Amino acid sequence: MFDTLFLDRDGVINEKLENRYVTCIKEFVFVDGVLESFTNINKYFKRVIIITNQQGIGKKIMTVKQLDDVHNYMISEIENSGGKINKIYFCSDLASKENNCRKPGTKMFEKALEDFPKIDLKKSFMFGDSDSDIVAGEKMGIKSVKIDHKFNLKSALKKIINIH
Ligand SMILES: [Mg+2]
Repeated sequence: MFDTLFLDRDGVINEKLENRYVTCIKEFVFVDGVLESFTNINKYFKRVIIITNQQGIGKKIMTVKQLDDVHNYMISEIENSGGKINKIYFCSDLASKENNCRKPGTKMFEKALEDFPKIDLKKSFMFGDSDSDIVAGEKMGIKSVKIDHKFNLKSALKKIINIH
């Protein structure tokens, strides 16, 4: 059994929008295969934690309430598919803010470790579609996997389970 699967959100769980933020449920479209993958994810990982930059809030394009609505929808769809998310950490800071909590920084991961002290980073993975996800994961010593349209969450998961 692995320990924790850290997931970026946009481009990993849901389709990333070009130069726009997902501000409401109708803009939140699950990437193909993600919902069905949660059966395997929760079978092989003790917990699943989402770590997501959401600068749209800092830019006042969307509110925390709008983000919560999107996340409640995402969680309910995942739970309806038999999956589970343990916690979502989001950073609403602007990239220009000094000492912000955004990836490639590690503040959201550090918060997760405070909240879940039993996390074993050596047995954990980070999946993300941006270099900042990989850099942040590697700073924490977490094996980090770059996701794209071809090598998506479903294929990345299959690969690590098979190797295991
Ligand atoms: Mg992303």
